[in-house]
Amino acid sequence: MSLPAHPDPYRLLLDEVGAFVYTTDLQGHYTYANQLVLDLLGGYRLEDVLGRAFGDFVQLPDAVGAALRETDLRVLHDGETLAREESNLIRATGELRTYWSIKKPLRDAAGRITGMLGISHDITEKKRLEDQLRQQKELLDTILDNTDALVYVKDVNRRFRYANQPLSQMLNLPVERIVGRRDTELLPQALADKFWAQDQAIIASGQRQTSEESLCDAQGRLRHYWSVIVPWQMPDGLAAVIGLSTDITELHELKEQLQQQASSDSLTGLANRRSFWEQAERELERSRRHGQPLALMTMDIDHFKAVNDAHGHPMGDHVLRAFAACCQSVLRSTDLCARTGGEEFCILLPETDLAGAGAIAERLRALVAALALDALVPGLRISASFGVTLLAAGDGGFDGMFLRADRALYTAKRSGRDCVVLSPTDAD
Ligand code: GH3
Ligand code: MG
Ligand code: MG
Repeated sequence: MSLPAHPDPYRLLLDEVGAFVYTTDLQGHYTYANQLVLDLLGGYRLEDVLGRAFGDFVQLPDAVGAALRETDLRVLHDGETLAREESNLIRATGELRTYWSIKKPLRDAAGRITGMLGISHDITEKKRLEDQLRQQKELLDTILDNTDALVYVKDVNRRFRYANQPLSQMLNLPVERIVGRRDTELLPQALADKFWAQDQAIIASGQRQTSEESLCDAQGRLRHYWSVIVPWQMPDGLAAVIGLSTDITELHELKEQLQQQASSDSLTGLANRRSFWEQAERELERSRRHGQPLALMTMDIDHFKAVNDAHGHPMGDHVLRAFAACCQSVLRSTDLCARTGGEEFCILLPETDLAGAGAIAERLRALVAALALDALVPGLRISASFGVTLLAAGDGGFDGMFLRADRALYTAKRSGRDCVVLSPTDAD
């Protein structure tokens, strides 16, 4: 076969397509091979290859050669078109390369098979990247599905684009039923809207945000989460957010417990001095803002040392608890009662004038005096002294008001105890 002096443009084109292209006759002898095939066979010229078979150039293991012949027969005799992945060991480099190979029968005008056309794309690199990508995805899925956090991606159309296993368990829905759904289909409307307002602000600002969130799980239990929300752009160009919500329910409960412990008195369960002071300062500001009266009652159990001395400290503790319960029995929902010292107590009474507070103090004094403590010690009776005052215009903070109430209490002590002393402000 003689070749033209100037190869025709189609040949040039086939040399440049980046794929192995060849044709064979019915015996599998080359009738054409492009430059890549010639290089693969060992750097021959086309005229050296024509009329010879692949096996004349490449030594294949028996099994591979047999498989190749069988494939060729399916094309050349049965007229099948085959497209599939194939691996070839490149002898020159010792490399195993992967190809996407198409083999198709060539036919004459009468439709008879005359040979075969083959095209093979080298997909080694593509496959390597795919394998790498698949491994990375598997690794990422394993990490994300085994973290304690709910991880999701939600796009600007409020559709979930990713959900990890913990989120699927939390919503009690398979991942396939979360991805593609809108937030309003998965969460109560009000909650979905609240989260969405937050997400929109994050998308608009482009800034990540952290916050604490609370949610009821599929079993109706309240769970607390520490959420980190990051703005992101989906590969399709849609704006989105990535949410990572770590379950901190146990930590949250512990924190609340500690806060409760830090702000309450362990013996009586009443507020302690520090938390009473903080709340009183807030209440004082509120009363001033609304122009409403605020009353304060301070109390001290009379001769309490004698109770301890006569019946022991543990019995004294029981008496303190009984006194606290007595105070709570006269409280309104807005009143605030605290143990501010050993046997010293306070009650803050919002929206109460001096006469009203005095009446409550008198009622409490009588209740304490009548308190039956026989279950603790037969015949044991106690009394307490009371100082009552009102918030005055000249009081700076709560300290000023407290001092005045305490002075009134001191007066009650000097006046024989078991009594209430009102301390009018300058304006009264
Ligand atoms: P007065 O009528 O002047 O108030 O006399 P009092 O004995 O109540 O006053 P004083 O301040 O001398 O004594 C207070 C006593 O309260 C002394 C202390 O041992 C006792 N006390 C303080 N805290 C506790 C407590 O937590 N438990 C018990 N059982 N006693 C306490
Ligand atoms: Mg005292
Ligand atoms: Mg006392």
